[in-house]
Amino acid sequence: MISVFGSANMDLVAYTARAPRRGETVTGRTFATIPGGKGANQATAAARAGADVAFFGAVGDDAFGPVMRRGLESAGVDVRGLRTVPGSSGIAQIVVDDDGANSIIVIPGANGAVAGASAEDLEVIDGSDALLLQLELPMAAVVATARASRAPVVLTPSPVQELPRDLLDAVTLIVPNEHEARAITGLSDPEQALGALLERVPEVVVTLGSAGALYGSRDGERLRVPAVPVRAVDTTAAGDTFVGALCVARAEGRPQAEALRFAATAAALSVQREGASTSMPARVEIDAAMAG
Ligand code: ATP
Repeated sequence: MISVFGSANMDLVAYTARAPRRGETVTGRTFATIPGGKGANQATAAARAGADVAFFGAVGDDAFGPVMRRGLESAGVDVRGLRTVPGSSGIAQIVVDDDGANSIIVIPGANGAVAGASAEDLEVIDGSDALLLQLELPMAAVVATARASRAPVVLTPSPVQELPRDLLDAVTLIVPNEHEARAITGLSDPEQALGALLERVPEVVVTLGSAGALYGSRDGERLRVPAVPVRAVDTTAAGDTFVGALCVARAEGRPQAEALRFAATAAALSVQREGASTSMPARVEIDAAMAG
């Protein structure tokens, strides 16, 4: 069982040949509203990848709130910990170009009103194999929840910001992408950044987009995980799919290398489809791709 304490956003996605430069207007191709947010994405990815998942967070009392709630429910996520608060839901305005690259503006909305996990939430969280956290909620709520959790904490440090020591002290596994790893450590070489992060957290995965990922643990284990070669159409939520699937495989007790391959396989399936939650593969698809 996986718990996710995090953001739910409505993704407003514009697909365009190329993103506009500052001050420029371009005519795009298509537009979609897709439930997203790093927390909800990781919850959806983990549920699709085969785990029981409980999600804790907030949506607004606007038109997007019920849509996001139903989206999580239809992925099989337990949403008893999803509150509805007055005001607007979280929004992510996303531009996806023809190379599949994305740029994103996040407006927190209801996510900004989330406080630390309640005693009721913690009853569920403490019985989980992992608690997944990201940084789209107020830092105080993230820190309080990480410190209160008896379940191992897996942190995606995005959007990247300064990480308080008492947060890192509570984290078992941190999963930055290469840009986040550089911003946190000041080191542009991912291997060196991984080494520096291991001084603060017991396990580290640095994801490298189409170049795969690096894993390291304080026990001295080091693994390089190649990406599965595919034609990417939209990399939105590749990282969230990777983290969700990785935690499912770890919760199943799979060896580290196999768990990482499971995550890379799920992420490679997701980049071949448009959108965030809409692109995440089901367990049968991941198993078939692993076998193939
Ligand atoms: P995002 O912010 O778009 O969700 P991210 O920056 O957090 O993603 P990435 O490092 O881009 O995360 O990707 C995570 C994982 O997804 C990679 O380690 C890799 O396994 C897989 N992946 C990403 N891009 C591709 C690609 N073009 N082809 C195959 N696999 C990919």
